[in-house]
Formats: sequence, structure tokens, C-alpha cells
Amino acid sequence: MSGFTMQLDEDQLTLQKWLHEFATDVIRPAAAEWDEREETPWPVIQEAAKAGIYSLDFFAQAREDQSGLSLPITMEELFWGDAGIGLSIVGTTLAAAGVVANGTFDQIVQWAPAMFGTETDVKLGALAVSEPNAGSDVSSMKTTAVYDEKTDEWVLNGVKTWITNGGIADVHVVVASVDAELKARGQASFVLGPDSKERGLSQGQKFKKHGIRASHTSEVILDDCRVPGDQLLGGKEKLDERLARAHERLRNPSAAASGSRSQAAMATFEASRPSVGAQAVGIARAAYEYALEYAKTREQFGRPIVQNQGIAFQLADMKTKLDAARLLVWRAAWMGRNEQPFLHGEGSMSKVYASEAAVDITERAIQILGGNGYTREYPVERWARDAKIYTIFEGTSEIQRLIISRAISGHQIP
Ligand SMILES: Cc1cc2nc3c(=O)[nH]c(=O)nc-3n(C[C@H](O)[C@H](O)[C@H](O)COP(=O)(O)OP(=O)(O)OC[C@H]3O[C@@H](n4cnc5c(N)ncnc54)[C@H](O)[C@@H]3O)c2cc1C
Repeated sequence: MSGFTMQLDEDQLTLQKWLHEFATDVIRPAAAEWDEREETPWPVIQEAAKAGIYSLDFFAQAREDQSGLSLPITMEELFWGDAGIGLSIVGTTLAAAGVVANGTFDQIVQWAPAMFGTETDVKLGALAVSEPNAGSDVSSMKTTAVYDEKTDEWVLNGVKTWITNGGIADVHVVVASVDAELKARGQASFVLGPDSKERGLSQGQKFKKHGIRASHTSEVILDDCRVPGDQLLGGKEKLDERLARAHERLRNPSAAASGSRSQAAMATFEASRPSVGAQAVGIARAAYEYALEYAKTREQFGRPIVQNQGIAFQLADMKTKLDAARLLVWRAAWMGRNEQPFLHGEGSMSKVYASEAAVDITERAIQILGGNGYTREYPVERWARDAKIYTIFEGTSEIQRLIISRAISGHQIP
């Protein structure tokens, strides 16, 4: 095929080198400390803002790359540095994507930059979808939003859980049910600004986690939280039209309009999956590189342990899986950027493969380091703890397999 290349261009190589230096000089040295502290690494986010990495402009520009590769390159390098800190830096982009996907032009201009704050005063954003009884099954969401016509406000009630940056963010994007009968089609997104804390939004339990411990994860409680009418993303008119169409479809399923909301939402999620997969690739690469160097220098029985096939073959498998994961991620990223439909769940393929590869590679890295691998003196145990979240959040491995199997079979696998 003419024009096909597997080589990164000059801009991408420059981006990769710059981010790698930041990951090496700033993120890596801070990783163990923030993992132990289990706190948001504000000084590191601040450094990232000063360097121009933690900013809406930076991520918007990375998205522009027509090949689709600048975003996965960014994710891989930052998460090679450390996944907990990496997520603290990129967590806001999830909320920004929620505003960009659903908001009006004015809402995007007002809220997307506000989530990042400024170079000298950084802020965070949070995307709150999950609930105690609505994880994989988002349609069973119980948080409600009721419109108060008298004051032109929405009143939100409910509990969101496992929210990255939940409660410490300046801006929360909250998905709530406005029409329970319509399940997923009756949901809407709201953007809640810094004043929400005086209006009924509070942080609930902060979770102590297995990995990505520098990333803050909390419940978000909405107690009669009053949200101004113009903070419904997309606006009321559009919502009313959408709800009317959904009711029509409910009454008359055969007249279902094309391009349903659930398909659109699915497409948005699919499009973000390569970036999540790229984060897992970053962790896996860190572990593979570390284990390789260790195996070349650690001697037992009078020779480096890498000279045993039992170790060398492990490393061969680790590298093969790592490269395969990156290729799936890059393919899906290219497809997403170039509006190629994911007819076979290619976004999900990249996420499920990369996350399971990261779990496997980090686990093997511990084995190659032996006793050292099991201690907190060496980073591989942290990488193994960090990798595990990738088979769980942003759609579990099982849900990714569901999407792929439905896409390839055309059957509604339950
Ligand atoms: C650290 C962390 C950060 C997070 N950040 C956010 C965030 O910022 N915002 C947000 O909204 N959410 C966030 N989440 C929530 C996350 O997206 C959910 O945990 C995830 O979607 C899974 O939901 P669940 O935990 O309820 O598991 P469940 O849905 O209860 O699933 C439990 C198990 O059952 C399996 N399962 C469920 N349904 C099926 C099925 N139909 N077929 C086969 N297997 C199935 C699952 O794959 C899983 O193995 C975060 C979670 C964590 C742990």
C-alpha cells in the first residue's frame, strides 16, 4: 500500500524523546514516594504543567496528529515513568473528553480549560459514571437529576464510586439518570464547577488501593446538589429531543432511528480505548526493560541468569507480547483518528490485549528478579500492582471480550 510506513515521523520522535526525558527525570524519581504516600502528587502535576504537558492545549494537539499515534506515544512514555503519577496527569483528560463529546461549543470553551487550571495553579477534572451497583452495567445507574423549572436548576442525588480525582477535582462531569424508564438512553451528563462543594457535592470514602496508589480514587456524594441549567451538557432542548426520540423507539421499536445514543456512546468509549491500552504498554515496557537488564547482570551458577533458556525464553515472550500489544494499540489509534469503524471491536482488542500483556509481563518480571522482585526496594512489584487495574477499569476484560464477540458474530451475546 503506498504511503504505508511503520516508522515514526520527526515530530513524533521529538515528542517521544521529550516525554521520555520528563518521565526519566521527573516521574520515575518520584514514583516510589507517591506510591507509599497514596496521595495525589501535586508537585509533579505542577512540573508537568510547567513543562507544557499538563494542559488542554497539549492533549488537544496530540489528538490532532492524523496518524493517531501521538496520543498513544504520550501515554506510553508517561506511564513508563509511573502509572499512578501518569493517571494523576492524564485523569483530567477523561473529564475533558466527556465535555467535548457532549457539550456545546460554549460549554467546551468554558469548562475544558478550567479543569486544567493554569501553569501556576493547577486544577483537576473528574468523570463520575460508576456507582456501587452500576459498574459494568452502567444502565442500572441510580443517581438522578430532576429539573426544577422555577429556578432553572437540576437537582442531583446519588453516590458515585471509584472516581479518579473524585472530590478533589475542581470540575466534575457527572452522568445521571433523567428518565429511569429509558435506562441508558435516559441518562445525561452535567458539568459541576468548583462551587458545587457549596451546592451539595462532597467527597465520600477515599479508597486504599492495590496499585496506582498515587492516583486519588474516591466516592462522590451528591446530596440535593443544585446544578445551574446551563451546566447540562448539550443543553435542555437537545436533551428533550433525544428523550422524545427514545420514548418513540420504546413505543415502536421497529421504527428505531439510525445512530442511536448507545451506539454513539459505544463509539466514544471504543475511541478512547487505544489510549488506555497504551498506558498498559508503558507499564509493561518498564518491567520488560528492567527484567532484561537484571537478567544480563545477575549471576547464579557462575553465569548471568539470562544465559538460561528458562529466563531468556521468558524475556523473548515478554518482548513479543509487548510489541504485539503496541501494534494493536497503534492500529486502533490510527483507525479511531481516521474514522475507520471498529467493525471487529478493534478498540477493545487493543485494550484487552495490552492490559493482559501488562499483567503477564510484570508478573514475569517479578519472577526474573526473584526475591528482589518481591520487595519494595525494586520497582517491579509496583508495576505488577499497577498493571492489574487495566483489566478492570475503563471496561473490564470480560466486557471487552463481550464487545469483540458481539462485533465479530453479529449475535447479541448476553
Ligand atoms: C482505580 C479505579 C479507578 C476508577 N476510575 C473511575 C472513574 O474515574 N470514573 C468512573 O466512572 N469509574 C471509575 N472506575 C470504575 C470502573 O470503571 C469499574 O470498576 C469497572 O467498570 C467495573 O465495574 P465493577 O467494579 O462494578 O465490576 P462489576 O461490573 O461488578 O464486575 C465484576 C466482575 O464481573 C464481570 N462481569 C460483569 N458483567 C459481566 C458480563 N455481562 N459478562 C461477563 N462478565 C461480567 C466483570 O468483568 C468483573 O470481572 C474506577 C475503578 C477503579 C478500581
